[in-house]
Amino acid sequence: MDRNTRARLRHALVARYPWVTDREWGPAAVEAGECDGCGAEARLVRTCGPASGEYVGRRCAAALGPDAWCDGHEDDAASALAWLSALPGEADLVARVWWVATGEVAPPPGGAGLALAQLGMPAP
Ligand SMILES: [Zn+2]
Ligand SMILES: [Zn+2]
Repeated sequence: MDRNTRARLRHALVARYPWVTDREWGPAAVEAGECDGCGAEARLVRTCGPASGEYVGRRCAAALGPDAWCDGHEDDAASALAWLSALPGEADLVARVWWVATGEVAPPPGGAGLALAQLGMPAP
């Protein structure tokens, strides 16, 4: 995927999912990758609790709750958990496509077309 295609994809994603560029939580706020807890969901927040510095996705964050953050960051925990629970069901897919659009990860075999089709979005 070339630069211009990635730029078009970023614009399309931001128009539909403005939360992707949030600097505090979400795909733009963490290093691209899978959840450190389960390895099977997109990582969307960084925690600082007992397992300090872990990046977790929605399911693991919900399971850990505020304990995933340290005592000094109770407010962050509350806003992160609220932010995550407001995401649409397809948020993991959106995050993975976002990382392709930013060039952080290579497109999956066969390109990003399948993921976009699953989101109901045209190829950029
Ligand atoms: Zn997880
Ligand atoms: Zn903390």
